[in-house]
Amino acid sequence: MRFFLNTIAGAMKTRRTKISELLKSEQTGIDVHVKGWVRTKRGNKHVSFIALNDGSSINSIQIVADPAIISEETLKKVTTGASIAVDGQLVESQGAGQSVEVHAKSLEVLGVADPEKYPLQPKKHSFEFLRDIAHLRPRTNTFGAVLRMRHAMSFAVHKFFNDKGFNYMHTPIITGSDAEGAGEMFRVTTLDANTPPLGEDGKVDFTEDFFGKETNLTVSGQLEGELGATAVGEIYTFGPTFRAENSNTTRHLAEFWMIEPEMAFYDLEDNMDLAEEFLKYLTQYALDHCADDLAFLENRLLDEEKNKPANERSEMTLTEKLRFVAENNFERVTYTEAIDILRNSNPNKKKKFQYLVEGWGTDLQSEHERYLVEKHFKKPVILTNYPKDIKSFYMRMDDDGKTVAAMDILFPGIGEIVGGSQREERLEVLVNRMDEMGVPKEDLEWYLDTRRYGTVPHSGFGLGFERLMIFVTGLGNIRDVIPFPRTPGNAEF
Ligand code: ATP
Ligand code: MG
Repeated sequence: MRFFLNTIAGAMKTRRTKISELLKSEQTGIDVHVKGWVRTKRGNKHVSFIALNDGSSINSIQIVADPAIISEETLKKVTTGASIAVDGQLVESQGAGQSVEVHAKSLEVLGVADPEKYPLQPKKHSFEFLRDIAHLRPRTNTFGAVLRMRHAMSFAVHKFFNDKGFNYMHTPIITGSDAEGAGEMFRVTTLDANTPPLGEDGKVDFTEDFFGKETNLTVSGQLEGELGATAVGEIYTFGPTFRAENSNTTRHLAEFWMIEPEMAFYDLEDNMDLAEEFLKYLTQYALDHCADDLAFLENRLLDEEKNKPANERSEMTLTEKLRFVAENNFERVTYTEAIDILRNSNPNKKKKFQYLVEGWGTDLQSEHERYLVEKHFKKPVILTNYPKDIKSFYMRMDDDGKTVAAMDILFPGIGEIVGGSQREERLEVLVNRMDEMGVPKEDLEWYLDTRRYGTVPHSGFGLGFERLMIFVTGLGNIRDVIPFPRTPGNAEF
């Protein structure tokens, strides 16, 4: 009986239809109920045109309000940013730019937005200004698109790995080992910063701390991920990652999201194959599922580039760039080959690089990575077999004793998007490397156990989710592809 009553009540209440659905509707003449936020209102004494957006799509629907039906008093409150509910008829639009519109029969203002104060007036705002009002910026076209695309890309990450039989593993966010990130970790503590307990040596006594030891926020879930991979075969992590690196670049955040697959029985080649397939899949997913948002972002980019000198404009549009990555093989090159290319390159000979490439063994700067991708190969590049001294202790030593089985994937406009390697599975070699590099073994006995008991060749990599988002949205700054960026000196909201 109760169920019956609920059903009747439900049927009597008009259901809200999302604007994305209305815009696709093939049926007109029907009564509809829409809710959303006003983007703009224009018109005259005889008619008002309201662009209404509810976030279900980048596109707004046009509401046509006749002052003979909707009171002037109500229409006065319909200003940019206000929220409204409209009952009306869906009709074919006479105007250009939209196929359907809603002719309002009644209109209710749910929440006003004082036009004197509302910061998001309908005009162009700089990204810098919008970062200061990050709590409101998802209401703009650009940041609404970013928010929807972050969701789509996250979903695609899970779908890709789920379809391949990988297990989503939750590695800890608070870690008790600082083996990987010495120097760039955020401490987690409940000790009083003003009067911490001191030991006899005058240093802070962390045995008194919450966990009875020093703890930090994770810089990577890899080491724990390896424990999962050497038990169930294939895992991936997808979680928040923290690095207190004081690098104020357009590619670094202090808090970002990282995807780290780890696979037993994969060698370096298998690892590269998986990473390349993964990036192509994600790019294709964006093309297939985010067409409206991509079309908007592509136009935004074209608009922005109009002001640049011709030689600085990109050769491809955003969707062309995505299609290019989805359809072409990445170039695979060793570090040693890359150094040769860079050493003989024009910018190096003409001393145009900020850091000149001279000898073998130094790390590549972002300008070098971008030269290889954007000027030399003109496609994504996988660089392999880096000198052991510039890479982590867990990467597998190559037979030459000089390089390790590392692979970084470099993307246009970004530089490194993926960093990975085949892991050193030989206990003695690994222990040697830890000693050479001063990695404290006593903190990592649990890690070494994977090599003591049933060790296997295995590999993995890390993809920075926000670097991927820079690529698929065409936005130039990592602060604009995460809702609330954390960077040195900034943790608002
Ligand atoms: P970079 O040289 O750009 O600082 P990294 O070598 O420190 O990168 P890894 O430790 O290999 O990076 O991490 C794997 C991936 O995580 C990188 O390829 C990148 O996509 C992403 N990443 C690393 N640091 C950051 C950061 N501070 N903000 C956002 N993404 C990051
Ligand atoms: Mg780094």
